[in-house]
Amino acid sequence: MSSPPLKAFSKLDLSGHDLPPSPAPSSPRTGKVYSLATELVYTEHSDQYGASSMPLYQTATFKQTSGSGGGEYDYTRSGNPTRSHLEKHLAKIMRANRALVVSSGMGAMDVISRMLKPGDEVIAGDDLYGGTNRLLKYLSTHGGIIVHHVDTTSVDAVLPVLSEKTAMVLLETPTNPLIKIVDLPAIAKAAHDANPKTVVAVDNTMLSPWLLNPLELGADIVYESGTKYLSGHHDLMAGVLAVNDLSLGEKLYFTINASGCGLAPFDCWLLLRGIKTLGVRMEKQQANAQAIAEFLENQGFKVRYPGLKSHPQYDLHWSMARGAGAVLSFETGNTVISERIVESTRLWAISVSFGCVNSLISMPCRMSHASIDEKTRKERQLPEDLVRLCVGIEDVDDLIDDLRTALVQAGAVTVSVDGMTAGVPPELAEDLRK
Ligand SMILES: *Cc1c(COP(=O)(O)O)cnc(C)c1O
Repeated sequence: MSSPPLKAFSKLDLSGHDLPPSPAPSSPRTGKVYSLATELVYTEHSDQYGASSMPLYQTATFKQTSGSGGGEYDYTRSGNPTRSHLEKHLAKIMRANRALVVSSGMGAMDVISRMLKPGDEVIAGDDLYGGTNRLLKYLSTHGGIIVHHVDTTSVDAVLPVLSEKTAMVLLETPTNPLIKIVDLPAIAKAAHDANPKTVVAVDNTMLSPWLLNPLELGADIVYESGTKYLSGHHDLMAGVLAVNDLSLGEKLYFTINASGCGLAPFDCWLLLRGIKTLGVRMEKQQANAQAIAEFLENQGFKVRYPGLKSHPQYDLHWSMARGAGAVLSFETGNTVISERIVESTRLWAISVSFGCVNSLISMPCRMSHASIDEKTRKERQLPEDLVRLCVGIEDVDDLIDDLRTALVQAGAVTVSVDGMTAGVPPELAEDLRK
């Protein structure tokens, strides 16, 4: 008996790609590719009522036309019209042949990691997202995977560990919270030279498709947390995967369908809404971030932000990306002072994560990166006093004002008739030694 064809992929999309069907195609019928700002909001569809917003198909099952099936969709774990629409829309925005959506950014990473088998070697950064670190640790302890953590922001540190055994290279740029830049084209090329089958996977959460297209720089898979910039409102969790190689896409889809981690219809619908404003949010957020980075640098703080000419890898960053993003970090020279700043702000919410329309402030060593022990943090030169800012869309003068007040209250600056400069005022220095 021959097996029936894979139902979810029985149709070609408008450009001939073997994609899951969608009742509302998100590519314009003329096949014209518009600029990203237009593509984010433009969809042409064939909804029976001409709905302007893609309808939410909040259903687990679909009635079939005959006893042997026949419908485009049968069960939401395998496929759902709202999810298909989101995936096609994302494929277009990420300039990929196929995109897939799952329940979280870590869910996306998990789907990718299922391609690994015992004995495979993985190369990953040493300033990686904490959740990625935790999953890799689990795989090396229980799955027989060999993980090499190296400083991927230095091509020379990556070359010696590459070999024909390298099955996967995981990259993230800029790194967080040290905001170091990874040379994606150079590492992708070296990895494929060492083993043409190596999968180069890039976590693009920090920049989003508005600012960076890793697939165009040599990556095989790009994934990101949709929880951050794509959604933009911190009201949902999602993960996105995109590829150009359709057989790779098929493998990823198999795992998603087999393990049941596809994004739920309601979250797909919310994410579709968020994506429409990605461009305007990002532009505003990074304009704010630039002004804040300059303000802090002008006070004399050591600021890490690729929008500043003082960033040591400024040229490398701009050779790959269209913008600097909206996450920056700075040092105060003292952990107590940093703590006071974080606790003195009003507009800046103390919170992990980023990508939200609201501005956030945190101390990575006390919060998001606290699971890395102090010794390792030292080895990775993660300053204990580092303050991370994730800039939102508020009025930039309000944000700077709030920060200025917090800096003064915390004693991070010395105020004089000429203005303020970074450095603990003498009358406070004694206090801090106690
Ligand atoms: C948040 C984040 C993730 C994980 O995404 P979740 O949606 O929280 O699971 C992965 N990588 C980076 C860089 C992130 O910031």
